[in-house]
Amino acid sequence: MQLTVLGSNGTYPTPGRPASGYLLDTVSDRILLDCGPGVFAAMLEREIFPDSIVLSHAHGDHCLDLLPLFNYLRFDRTDLRGIPLLAPQGVVDRLAAFIGAGPTHEFFDVFISEVIAPGAAVRIGEAKIDFGEAVHPVPALCVRVTTPDSSLVYSGDTGPGGDLQGLAAGTALLLCEATHQGPPPSDRYPYHLYAVEAGQIAAAASVEALLVTHVAPTLDPAVSVVEAGAEFAGRVDHAAPGMEVQV
Ligand SMILES: [Zn+2]
Ligand SMILES: [Zn+2]
Repeated sequence: MQLTVLGSNGTYPTPGRPASGYLLDTVSDRILLDCGPGVFAAMLEREIFPDSIVLSHAHGDHCLDLLPLFNYLRFDRTDLRGIPLLAPQGVVDRLAAFIGAGPTHEFFDVFISEVIAPGAAVRIGEAKIDFGEAVHPVPALCVRVTTPDSSLVYSGDTGPGGDLQGLAAGTALLLCEATHQGPPPSDRYPYHLYAVEAGQIAAAASVEALLVTHVAPTLDPAVSVVEAGAEFAGRVDHAAPGMEVQV
């Protein structure tokens, strides 16, 4: 597999740094994990578009660029219509409602949507996709992609607990949110991770390598890498926009 980081900013994009969007090329398919603000333009710049899309949850920093992607596929790349769109309950309904798309709207010709619950597993070409429950204020998924040669787990947005650690067990690469830095305070926000916690999950799951992502835009990702690396002996890096990783 090859992972291409289109964007990795936590919560909002900044110039040259889109919010969450990761392209995963398997031998058979190109899968987009999340489609946050700035991700559509990053795909257009590269002239690469997905065969399938997985959205982790309904927060805007993970799904809003599905709307410009829809217009592009609707008007200018009709040959690409019919893209499978996998998302938890409520995500596609919200996006469709934003453009007033009823059940017969061409939104549902461009995207073939399927609601995914935690515990579900689907096959996309040679890849098996397993979904776990993330700890977040809206229905949210963490995602494991397993091919004959490798495996990757993406946390989506999550606090501690949930299915992330179990899903990540033994995987080659953990792409894990690390929104915050420093020691988690006792009154910590329960729906995101600190960099040290990303490192602890990577260690407990015995993954081969860790990419921290979704770092809050005001923070220096290099600090997140150091903090996560203090908890995890394997390779740690930041999922910088434009980065390509062989998994
Ligand atoms: Zn987010
Ligand atoms: Zn979120």
